[in-house]
Amino acid sequence: LTPVKNEPLTLPNGAKYEQPVGLFINGEFVKSQSGKRFETENPTTETPIISVYEAGEADANAAVEAAKNAFKNWGFKTAPSERGVLLNKLADLIERDLDLISAIETTDNGKVFAQAQGDVALVVKVLRYYAGFADKIGGDLVQTNDGFFNYTRKEPLGVCGQIIPWNFPLLMWAWKIAPALTTGNTVVLKTAESTPLSALYACKLSQEAGFPKGVLNVVSGYGPVGGVLSAHPDIKKIAFTGSTATGKQVAKTALTSNLKKTTMELGGKSPNIIFDDANLEDALSAAALGIFFNSGEVCCAGSRLFVQAGVYDQVVEAFKKKAESVKVGDPFDPNSLQGPQQNKNQFKKILGYIEQGQKEGAHLLCGGSAQAGPNKGYFIQPTVFTDVNNDMSIVREEIFGPVLTITKFNTVDEVIDMANDSEYGLAAGIHTTDINKAHYVAENIASGTIWVNCYNAFHEAVPFGGYKQSGFGKEMGRDGLENYLQTKAVRVKLDERKW
Ligand code: NAD
Repeated sequence: LTPVKNEPLTLPNGAKYEQPVGLFINGEFVKSQSGKRFETENPTTETPIISVYEAGEADANAAVEAAKNAFKNWGFKTAPSERGVLLNKLADLIERDLDLISAIETTDNGKVFAQAQGDVALVVKVLRYYAGFADKIGGDLVQTNDGFFNYTRKEPLGVCGQIIPWNFPLLMWAWKIAPALTTGNTVVLKTAESTPLSALYACKLSQEAGFPKGVLNVVSGYGPVGGVLSAHPDIKKIAFTGSTATGKQVAKTALTSNLKKTTMELGGKSPNIIFDDANLEDALSAAALGIFFNSGEVCCAGSRLFVQAGVYDQVVEAFKKKAESVKVGDPFDPNSLQGPQQNKNQFKKILGYIEQGQKEGAHLLCGGSAQAGPNKGYFIQPTVFTDVNNDMSIVREEIFGPVLTITKFNTVDEVIDMANDSEYGLAAGIHTTDINKAHYVAENIASGTIWVNCYNAFHEAVPFGGYKQSGFGKEMGRDGLENYLQTKAVRVKLDERKW
């Protein structure tokens, strides 16, 4: 492993710092064994930011080896409270550097700066939340009255492979590493090829916090390195976030190689429902947040809006105004509400869906085209379609962009059927002032999260994860710990009474 120096970088907002560019293996930034590097691009300007080392199979293997060696201590010898102390230190350092990390995220991902700050603030909370569990994990005493002493132990799995996407680069990193490390596992994480920078910077902070070498490893690289992790015989679990298609491949490889445990956080096409009796102003804001937050690149985006007939015309008119007022532009401009899409492929894919929607006969209410920023960039206008039906691809498929469809409905049961008519089941929004209706609909919609009179309302203590083809296994909350623990049952036969 050849160490490599961090490189000076100046971000578009003027921030200057040393960006790590190496792979983070065994507590050090190192060159890839092939020496290959790849460039990461600023989606606002379509210009390169910096190049980082690209992991190949040999690097992934080296990272797994480091994690395997570190596990012996971290998993079974380190005091659990010490894991918590380190995660808390890391949280403090990330909080100290919150503005710099947010600027890195805005440059690499394209999300507006205030949203990046929101992401990093949640990163800090997630690390602290899981740090608190470190010394509170334990098994049970099981009373059987049969001459046995029984107990269970909650044990870590070993080396965990984690594969994350580009839409929330550091937040997905935190959702993955925090529950894994607090429970005593060690990690090899692969970032998305188009957003490697913030996670590398956070690894530098993990050095400063004093994490033991090899506990946390991060490899920058493309899909095939994710494939190496999915197949690796020394990895015991794969946690994946990304598209349903890739998730299926990863799950298959993980299963057929060595029966790895998997958790899958996949795509969505989430319904957001406005009833006649809703507080319309709030519901409209939640609907806009649901689809335009993070340029629509959110797995749980509320991309199918259903509006009850009594308020349909009013909502459509008001939402058009709202969509047209979203300022799309330079993500460092404090007036911008929406930055560019994260990468060129995604940009083209979204424009393709907009074209397809028009071909299929949907009415384009507003938006619908690329909107160049001051220096090029992958900007797309907030786009809304009405007059859609459930057979159209823009209603069925995940677009992952600022594109909303609006559908009229009449009855509660009708909208429940429409909402559930999807292969996905990640999240849903319900807007009503009738508490009974809210609970009825919440119970009858098949999705992992239901937001009532709000949308995208994440909390580190509340589990998040999909139903149906949106995946399985929760992240955040106590549930997030379960994926990283296995239960050992011990039965001790006691001698018969001899006294
Ligand atoms: P993807 O699923 O292809 O990539 C996600 C991660 O998996 C990346 O780190 C990628 O390098 C890695 N990967 C790719 N192929 C792999 C393989 N064969 N084995 C192991 N790892 C592999 O997603 P993408 O190309 O970044 O985006 C495509 C679509 O995915 C988007 O349009 C969107 O619909 C969806 N997406 C969903 C989420 C989500 O949070 N649910 C996030 C990002 C993208």
